[in-house]
Amino acid sequence: MAAAKVGVLAVQGAFAEHEAVLRRLGAEPIELRQASDLERSFDRLILPGGESTAQGKVLRDLGMLDPLRQRIQEGMPVLGTCAGLILLADHIDSVNGDGSRVDDQHNSTWLATLPVTVRRNAYGRQLGSFRTEQPFAGLGTVPMTFIRAPFVTAVGPGTEVLAEADGNVVAVRNGNQIGLSFHPELDPSTLIHELLLSL
Ligand code: GLN
Repeated sequence: MAAAKVGVLAVQGAFAEHEAVLRRLGAEPIELRQASDLERSFDRLILPGGESTAQGKVLRDLGMLDPLRQRIQEGMPVLGTCAGLILLADHIDSVNGDGSRVDDQHNSTWLATLPVTVRRNAYGRQLGSFRTEQPFAGLGTVPMTFIRAPFVTAVGPGTEVLAEADGNVVAVRNGNQIGLSFHPELDPSTLIHELLLSL
């Protein structure tokens, strides 16, 4: 069987780590840096962690936002991690986890294909980064590394909760879309990437 080709958004953030996991699993990462890269052949997508406002603006300026949205709406499997979850969300809480209220431009939605509300920097300043292990639907216990992470404060129609940490929703799925608060590419477990490859 030919190696699965996975488009990895590579404009900002933790994309190289995702690529390394994909290679370990025998899949071929396709770096998406500009609109013309979207014409390359790939049948799955990873939106990495990083800074969602920066990523969203670059995607818009490069003309990648609309074509990516269309591919997702047509059913391409997508894994959004951390900032990637924020790019997917169709609603963003107007108040951040650290209590700061940011302007609409910074809390805007981007791809808006995933029916969830997310709170950015949901753990506040004190708990900027931490690790835990929690049950994940269908996968057993999964290590989770959080870095200035969002969590999901409301799930919309058709969205199922896959994992919680401390009572907060940190993993969801809606059909072809998986959104995670944490960074699976930073832990040795490859379960999450195997899940994406199985879709
Ligand atoms: N805090 C970042 C944001 O709001 C997300 C952090 C991350 O991706 N690790 O975009």
